Amino acid sequence: MSNSPFTSGIVPARLDAPALAENFADLHAPLDAHEALVAADRCYFCHDAPCITACPTSIDIPLFIRQIATGTPEAAARTIFDQNILGGMCARVCPTETLCEEACVREAAEGKPVLIGQLQRYATDTVMAAGLHPFTRAEATGKRIAVIGAGPAGLACAHRLAMKGHDVDIFDARPKGGGLNEYGIASYKSTNGFAAAEVEWLMQIGGIMLHTGKALGRDLSLDGLRGDYDAVFLAMGLAGVNALRAEGEGRDGVGDAVDFIADLRQAEDLAAIPVGRNVVVIGGGMTAIDAAVQSKLLGAESVTVVYRRGREAMPASRYEQDLAASKGVRFIFNAVPVEVLGNGAAAALRCEYTRAEGRDLQGTGEMFDLPADQILKAIGQTLQGAPEALALQGGKIAVNGPGRTSANGVWAGGDCASGGEDLTVTAVADGRDAAEDIHNALIGKG
Ligand SMILES: Cc1cc2nc3c(=O)[nH]c(=O)nc-3n(C[C@H](O)[C@H](O)[C@H](O)COP(=O)(O)OP(=O)(O)OC[C@H]3O[C@@H](n4cnc5c(N)ncnc54)[C@H](O)[C@@H]3O)c2cc1C
Ligand code: SF4
Repeated sequence: MSNSPFTSGIVPARLDAPALAENFADLHAPLDAHEALVAADRCYFCHDAPCITACPTSIDIPLFIRQIATGTPEAAARTIFDQNILGGMCARVCPTETLCEEACVREAAEGKPVLIGQLQRYATDTVMAAGLHPFTRAEATGKRIAVIGAGPAGLACAHRLAMKGHDVDIFDARPKGGGLNEYGIASYKSTNGFAAAEVEWLMQIGGIMLHTGKALGRDLSLDGLRGDYDAVFLAMGLAGVNALRAEGEGRDGVGDAVDFIADLRQAEDLAAIPVGRNVVVIGGGMTAIDAAVQSKLLGAESVTVVYRRGREAMPASRYEQDLAASKGVRFIFNAVPVEVLGNGAAAALRCEYTRAEGRDLQGTGEMFDLPADQILKAIGQTLQGAPEALALQGGKIAVNGPGRTSANGVWAGGDCASGGEDLTVTAVADGRDAAEDIHNALIGKG
């Protein structure tokens, strides 16, 4: 090993291969059959189950848990996939602590919810590992739909449309499908190439063609697609990144957290990923947490997250914050970056403390400097390349109900569409619901 956590600058191989393998192993080891039965046994099978209401895809959670309890995980998986075809990924990445598990009556009573996420993973992994695909296509309708973006929203939409007998072409600008499942989700949440395996498994339905390296706005136009297809679903996510608006932002060592994470996700060898000795991450969402945790796991000596508001306002859940703290990430709240200091490359970040006045933030004038050879911006993504013909709302494609845009025959969903929470599971729900609406419109019920 050539470097260590104490080597100056942004360098690869701060840790040796065994340490990296241990650091990037599965965040939660999967449940074995016995553990799954014990966990399923804790469910009260509530009649008005609040966990179902809290799930953005409305999975019948007590039903699938009962199916696990009765030794039929295949049936449990079918219950999950009926509502959420990316139930395998969602079992790994959903912030269950703010969704179904927060709503679980055993959380309210004992502070210890039924392990819904891990049970969902147990059921879906059982079926996917066996290579079984529980759905077949309806008779061909002769209708063709174009989907832009092969992330969770696009894949969920394409699968539901294919099931109903339509033919779907998915176009994605990147070389691989999966969207942020493949390029964004933290490595320790999606291990062993699960994102790619899930895309392949989902495509087993048939009737879906994935065309990679094809971008709307560069290789395809909305007008062309509207002419060639019966409907278009836009699921292009948020490809742009906000600017820091701090002096010295152009210095070497300042980069986007999403690019850093994408490089990490695509690396064959984690030791090849360069990371700073002193890393500062700006932001307060999942991207900030994931960039910070993974910098630490790669061997950075110090990693600090700087967030402009207080802890309670942070979009990342308390669970995510605690996970980061347990890995050695430090948090500084109520502070904003003012200037990147250094001679060519970044050496430190000057920050100013803030005070909230209602929704507004005021600088207090009190400054401090953090040593920083790498500064990762995680201050939100923006819509890029939306067709001009479409109305926008709040910087996203304006949609009504199940994804109808201002243009006839064009739907949108997932992160690029207005409303929603920018989560994998909400993107899946959007894609599924838009597919139902497209189907109804195409067969004359809409
Ligand atoms: C770093 C990071 C970590 C995250 N972690 C979590 C997590 O742990 N849990 C969770 O629930 N959510 C998480 N999220 C949010 C979640 O990943 C997104 O909400 C979700 O992926 C949105 O799905 P989507 O299909 O709308 O868009 P995306 O997944 O972004 O997919 C959009 C696809 O469209 C393609 N595309 C873009 N522009 C074009 C174009 N012009 N032409 C053709 N194709 C195009 C892109 O290449 C991409 O494949 C995270 C997000 C980030 C950035
Ligand atoms: S709320 Fe908890 S106990 Fe009740 S059905 Fe859902 S998982 Fe089971």
